[in-house]
Amino acid sequence: MLPQPRSRSFRKLPALSATQVPLDLLMDAPWKRMPQMPNLIQLAVPGFIALLLLEAVLDAIMRRDLYQLKDTAASLTMGTGNVILGLVSKTMVFAIFTVVHRFAIFKIGYQWWAWILLFFSEDFTYYWFHRTSHECRLFWASHVIHHSSQRYNLGTALRQTWTGSFMSFVFWLWLPLVGFEPVMVLTMQAISLIYQFWIHTELIRSMGPLEWVINTPSHHRVHHGSNQRYLDRNHAGILIIWDRMFGTYVPEQESPVYGLTKNINSYNPLRIAFHEWVDIWNDVRCAPTLRLKLRYVFGRPGWKEEQTARAAHL
Ligand SMILES: [Zn+2]
Ligand SMILES: [Zn+2]
Repeated sequence: MLPQPRSRSFRKLPALSATQVPLDLLMDAPWKRMPQMPNLIQLAVPGFIALLLLEAVLDAIMRRDLYQLKDTAASLTMGTGNVILGLVSKTMVFAIFTVVHRFAIFKIGYQWWAWILLFFSEDFTYYWFHRTSHECRLFWASHVIHHSSQRYNLGTALRQTWTGSFMSFVFWLWLPLVGFEPVMVLTMQAISLIYQFWIHTELIRSMGPLEWVINTPSHHRVHHGSNQRYLDRNHAGILIIWDRMFGTYVPEQESPVYGLTKNINSYNPLRIAFHEWVDIWNDVRCAPTLRLKLRYVFGRPGWKEEQTARAAHL
């Protein structure tokens, strides 16, 4: 007797065990039933390149010295690596979001109002992800890449992580769990990333009253500053309101000194991508106690330097 055909509808399946879910997802390919969303980041790439070239030309005319060839080449290499690795990480994240969405609390679907709710929810999530990326060394190890340039231009926007996409998704898991469609969450993340491209410029000084509400070049210059009063400030994605609400907002006053408090001074993509991971590994290896090892991984990124400085003053 032939085996019974599998149900094509995942929702009709009886109660599933945790081990069944991923397998059934692969077999039933539920994403085949989802509306196709365009790959916004791929569509935006020609725009990124055109604006970058425009800024570089204006820079040459105005003699602002915003660009340096090796620095921009390193940023573009990091961006290219991020896109290539993104093919793997996005597939992985989409599969995980889809599994989580099976257990959604509400059935939201593709309603027009869901996009509005999701816009605020995603941006709120981005704020906390980004803030954690600056306050916890485990996440800083991936995010430090974006801050490793000592220049601030549209090329710096493309200096993106190689490792972060495989772990940062945990911050967004609550969205499919609440009921937002996974493909909508990924689309909103892409919109946020694309939005954040144009704010990496020195050529726009102020956006007037919009500075109150949205993240602007001025707010984000502060975020890239290594000046003491600018450290770990302005974590916003699209809306600056989260920084104003949660006490991390600082306006641009003095000129930012771009880069890290301790710059790596390297254009080697592998060093840019992995230097903090290597440092964490060395610190954990040498730490005498488990408590110290955990602190090196989960503590604040500058904790070790602060301890060393304090010891020197004693
Ligand atoms: Zn940052
Ligand atoms: Zn940035």
